[in-house]
Amino acid sequence: MIQVCGYAAQNAKSPLAQYSFERRELRDYDVTIDIHYCGICHSDIHQVNDEWGASTFPMVPGHEITGIVSQIGEKVTRYKVGDRVAVGNFVDSCRNCGPCHKGLEQYCVQGATWTYNGFERQDGEKSIPTQGGYSNKIVVDENYVLSIPDNLPLDSAAPLLCAGITLYSPLLHWRAGPGKKVAIIGLGGLGHIGVKIAHTLGAEVTVLSHSLKKQVESKKLGADNFYATSDPNTFKTLRGYFDLMINTISVELDLNRYMKMLALDGTMVIVGLPEKQMQISAFSLTIARRSLAGSVIGGIRETQEMLDFCSKNNIACDIELVPIQKVNEAYQRVLDSDVRYRFVIDVINSLKCKDK
Ligand code: NAP
Ligand code: ZN
Ligand code: ZN
Repeated sequence: MIQVCGYAAQNAKSPLAQYSFERRELRDYDVTIDIHYCGICHSDIHQVNDEWGASTFPMVPGHEITGIVSQIGEKVTRYKVGDRVAVGNFVDSCRNCGPCHKGLEQYCVQGATWTYNGFERQDGEKSIPTQGGYSNKIVVDENYVLSIPDNLPLDSAAPLLCAGITLYSPLLHWRAGPGKKVAIIGLGGLGHIGVKIAHTLGAEVTVLSHSLKKQVESKKLGADNFYATSDPNTFKTLRGYFDLMINTISVELDLNRYMKMLALDGTMVIVGLPEKQMQISAFSLTIARRSLAGSVIGGIRETQEMLDFCSKNNIACDIELVPIQKVNEAYQRVLDSDVRYRFVIDVINSLKCKDK
């Protein structure tokens, strides 16, 4: 086994603290990655707080990982030592089901192997718990590793691995582009990159934020319009307006109120994953033949396509770099919507492992 260290929550809701653990020895198709940066996603906070149920502890969160390949297994062909690489939300899948064959591993019928808060697949069986990117090294099968294009900095590219692909995938699937009116609900980590991507695709982009605080900055990200959802007039003004709405909010919303802003045949895509259930009235769907849909991250092929799209269009995330020792403070600031727009942990410069 390989000795590594990172930051872990020992129990639900407990603060993260330094923790030593082991990763598997390199298998034939594995690469070892020295982790340089890891984004803080709101999903990390939901899982540390066990808001979705079934969290396992100790938990080392982190699924927006970038770094450099430091070792390769005997049969690895896709990567070499020194390559700039990344790992997102999952590190394996069954490789045999319909979604896996289509490159949609995130929808693996047996469940993808999540980068953390999951179990390694070994000989087809689920074995030791997986641990994420708030750590100095990770060992991953080369087929689940992404390549970071040269012009993308490793720190501001890190959140593309979750926030970026989570917005890119539905924007492409529901064909955001010229002539389409797209709303991004919530201007957080996911929302801000969604604005950049939707704008680059040529859609008219409107931000729906809970206050007017982020209005000026949203224009710099590429938003055409900005409305505060705290103002009841917003819902009147925008009635029947949008072709596509992407809901990135981490808490539950009154969906029926928001669905009224969809035009005929419009679609609301839920990507935010609040702890509590939301309700929908049949009338919200039947009136104007609207759809309510959901989407989760993207497959390996699409994630690489998204990274190449961001490289070509010079898109990266707006980040605040933090030392790993400040991770608990950063969590609180995410909960307070006090981040522009993603915290990224400076793992390489701040995490000191005794056995390094
Ligand atoms: P985030 O940075 O905290 O952004 C969430 C945004 O929601 C905030 O910036 C804020 O935007 C709005 N918001 C927060 N609290 C609110 C409240 N009480 N009322 C109204 N609006 C509120 O989080 P994130 O990392 O972008 O993640 C957002 C959600 O997506 C989380 O639930 C996360 O677990 C989920 N997620 C899903 C996927 C997927 O594949 N489906 C992937 C990653 C994350 P404004 O200030 O603009 O209102
Ligand atoms: Zn995430
Ligand atoms: Zn599968």
